[in-house]
Amino acid sequence: MEHPENDPNYIGLTVNSGVTQPPSINPYLKRKRRPLPSAAELVAGILAGDITMLSRAVTLVESLAAEHQAIAQEVIEKCLPYSGHSRRIGITGVPGAGKSTSIDAFGLHVLKSGGKLAVLAIDPSSERTKGSILGDKTRMERLAIHPSAFIRPSPSAGSLGGVARKTRETIVLCEAAGFNNIFVETVGVGQSETAVHSMVDFFLLLQLAGTGDELQGIKRGIMEMADGIVINKADGDNINRAQLAQAQFRSALHLFPPTESGWQPEVLTYSGYYELGIAEVWDMIDRYFDFVKSNGYFDRKRAIQARYWMRETIDEQLRRHFYDNPEIASMLAEKEIRVLNNQQSSFTAARDVLDAYFHSQNP
Ligand code: GDP
Repeated sequence: MEHPENDPNYIGLTVNSGVTQPPSINPYLKRKRRPLPSAAELVAGILAGDITMLSRAVTLVESLAAEHQAIAQEVIEKCLPYSGHSRRIGITGVPGAGKSTSIDAFGLHVLKSGGKLAVLAIDPSSERTKGSILGDKTRMERLAIHPSAFIRPSPSAGSLGGVARKTRETIVLCEAAGFNNIFVETVGVGQSETAVHSMVDFFLLLQLAGTGDELQGIKRGIMEMADGIVINKADGDNINRAQLAQAQFRSALHLFPPTESGWQPEVLTYSGYYELGIAEVWDMIDRYFDFVKSNGYFDRKRAIQARYWMRETIDEQLRRHFYDNPEIASMLAEKEIRVLNNQQSSFTAARDVLDAYFHSQNP
């Protein structure tokens, strides 16, 4: 190693070379990369209810690598005939509304009658901050160690549309692995509710009472999507306020147009923490499923969702094909500078880039 201090210009100073530090990783330890399982192995494992194989398949679904995607898509295709036999329930609420506490309580309640539960999440914050609000398994203490529960944090890569599509694909795999209850959790603060709404049968909105401005705080659009609104933390001093909020929500819901399903959304109070009213909330969800299964809405909605996801997938793939094209990427950068310097209008710049793309596809 060179020590500049030993240069003859520095008088009276010598620096000895130190001892080379040993590597911090044992050089004799050969990291074995697990070979990629084949699609057939994964499908067989999933259908047998093997959680390790399910997890590995979900990891491939979430991966952006083309090689992984190819296997994932084959697995999804083969699992599709075994999917669909579950109750898909979306759960939303602002951070602190009690989603994890409630999912823990609801989950244990559901599992009392047998079956299996998968808890998935769509968390747009993970895209922006690389830290997920919903990612932490330990938030659901009892479910995390329950043998019949599978908890998977939100996929983090890509756009909200891409993340949501991966969650939707994960639902297929979980159902094929015998999970007959699927919870999809999301934070009630943005576009992600629409994504979750488009993949579940029942959409549950968790609310808090006692802030005085319950109705102002949430977007009308989210309330319109809800099949049930539950006011959490109806315990202790908070019971009266929760009941007041319940009355307010009920009268607000009356002003909404009738729902497509014909179901009248209900408003209940409960306490996730003290487990008060959990059975009543679940009873409402049971009644909803009976109702929409008997009037045909259940199947109709799933068909609409399937079509929606086909379109979404096409959109997503087209966009990716366009932006991943290296020529387009460099042209875009150039054009952006021109637009910012007022040398070209946004529209002509966009047209030039699109023309170049279409030409490259069809020279
Ligand atoms: P999340 O951010 O929506 O997942 O909310 P959490 O489940 O983490 O709950 C936020 C806080 O509210 C925690 O400190 C919980 O202990 C508390 N909490 C959740 N449910 C209840 C409840 O039913 N009653 C009371 N009093 N506190 C609750």
